[in-house]
Amino acid sequence: MEKPNLEKILTNEKNGLSKQREIISEAVTKILIALGENPEREGLKKTPLRVAKAFEELLDGYSQDIVDLVNDALFEVDYGTGEMVLVQDIPYDSLCEHHMLPFSGVAHVAYIPSNKVIGLSKIPRIVEMYARRLQIQERLCNQVLNTIEEVLSPLGVMVMVEGSHDCAAMRGVKKKNLNMKTLAVSGIFETDLNKKDEFFKMLKQ
Ligand SMILES: [Zn+2]
Repeated sequence: MEKPNLEKILTNEKNGLSKQREIISEAVTKILIALGENPEREGLKKTPLRVAKAFEELLDGYSQDIVDLVNDALFEVDYGTGEMVLVQDIPYDSLCEHHMLPFSGVAHVAYIPSNKVIGLSKIPRIVEMYARRLQIQERLCNQVLNTIEEVLSPLGVMVMVEGSHDCAAMRGVKKKNLNMKTLAVSGIFETDLNKKDEFFKMLKQ
């Protein structure tokens, strides 16, 4: 079998690609060759470009920012006295920054408003923005909490993220269905154990 000609393949691939796609495609071609594959065979011909496009999509959280995202979806309210708003079971997909393998699960986000609330759809969008970056679950959890803090200045925030990680399921310990839970709390949730309990009770309902 003829050895793949890296130079030639890379030149062919480059035509009309954005710089980012070009760089990622090149890198994937090199990985294929390093693995002993032939990047010119039918099934792999377009793989480098497909991988580049997939990464762009899976990591499009880098091109979003919180100001655009929240836009004007903040509302002044008089809402109860220290009552909780909980958005439960927000699905997310992310890539772990240690292996660039997927992890996914759900996030539960609760806050106790002071005088502002945020449009319901914005909380899943915030989770998604941070999930679609190279992540570790602990940081994802903290970033969602900090963002709710910044945007709403609420009396407290509590975020729980559940995730199962392909890097633990497919390699290393090879344990399927491990569910990792991470928790971040601020404000009243830190000081008032009843509020914390209320969060878990509401989750179960
Ligand atoms: Zn990992």
